[in-house]
Amino acid sequence: MFKALIVEKNEDGKTHASVQEIGEDRLPEGAVTVDVAYSTVNYKDGLCIGPGGGLVRNYPHVPGIDFAGTVSASDHECYQPGDAVVLTGWRVGEVHWGGYAQKARVKPEWLVPLPEGLTARQAMAVGTAGLTAMLAVMALEDHGLTPDAELPVLVTGASGGVGSVAVAILANLGYKVAAVTGRPDNAGYLHDLGATEIVDRAELAETTRKPLEAERWAGCIDAVGSAMLARVLGQIAYGGSVAAVGLAGGADLPATVIPFLLRGVNLLGIDSVMQPYDNRLRAWQRIATDLPMEKLESMIHPATLDDLPQLGADILKGQVRGRVVVDLN
Ligand code: NDP
Repeated sequence: MFKALIVEKNEDGKTHASVQEIGEDRLPEGAVTVDVAYSTVNYKDGLCIGPGGGLVRNYPHVPGIDFAGTVSASDHECYQPGDAVVLTGWRVGEVHWGGYAQKARVKPEWLVPLPEGLTARQAMAVGTAGLTAMLAVMALEDHGLTPDAELPVLVTGASGGVGSVAVAILANLGYKVAAVTGRPDNAGYLHDLGATEIVDRAELAETTRKPLEAERWAGCIDAVGSAMLARVLGQIAYGGSVAAVGLAGGADLPATVIPFLLRGVNLLGIDSVMQPYDNRLRAWQRIATDLPMEKLESMIHPATLDDLPQLGADILKGQVRGRVVVDLN
């Protein structure tokens, strides 16, 4: 028997999450069984612990879109019992049972070996949010961003999971980093992660009729979308890029194409879920070298399975700072 956070749907269509003891026979099919050590809380987890957001197909459901742990049984040549592994993406925790349990069973191709230099706890402090931040940095670099840029790189939704890790990585690589937050109390936290400038969310939330404004940013990692992304596109320096990661502010994009046509601005889509194996490995290796572990430590908020219903609701309201690390044992 092992502990899992089970989400059930009542007859009235409402969901309810509780910690239960279940047997291994309840685990879904898959060639590799993992003893989960740590998981975390991403925005999507908030949806899957709560109302589902159209992501969960079947109930009862175990959420948790990422986990780190040790292989306990494997029918696949790539993994042996005792191997340390990490899982992000592949709709685990949405369509498939996820990491909010002491055991998980998954397809081998969804796993990557725990990157050298990281513990399982650190890997989940990074989690899907941090991996996505790294993928965004890599995409900006691939499109010509270098640390000698005169203007800062903007990070929106900066106190969140993606934003916090993005700020810490960019600052460590030598970029000037402007961090957008709607929570002024987090300014000290963001400066400690390496932000050189704090931008009030309200400043970029105001819409403008001007399709182009003064060039303010060398590039941007955007976790917010909607009106803020539209506004930022008009402030990017000539030839610069925005990595679009999230929709914390909304899924629409009320923008014009003028920044693309007159300034050669690039809008780069970032997806962590179906990211090919080789690039996921490359991103994890970059995290191990480019993210200072003491900065990562300062982002961590420890939690257990029992805390998850509350934390899921909090992250949907934008009230979680940094990264939650869920200890399964
Ligand atoms: P968090 O909730 O941790 O962070 C989001 C941050 O955005 C908040 O902390 C807050 O930061 C800011 N924010 C919240 N609401 C608003 C709003 N209405 N307007 C402007 N800013 C707002 O989530 P994550 O960091 O885990 O994820 C961020 C986004 O990225 C989500 O939309 C998520 O779905 C997406 N995502 C996408 C992935 C991909 O593969 N593309 C992978 C992982 C996440 P502050 O208080 O500092 O302003």
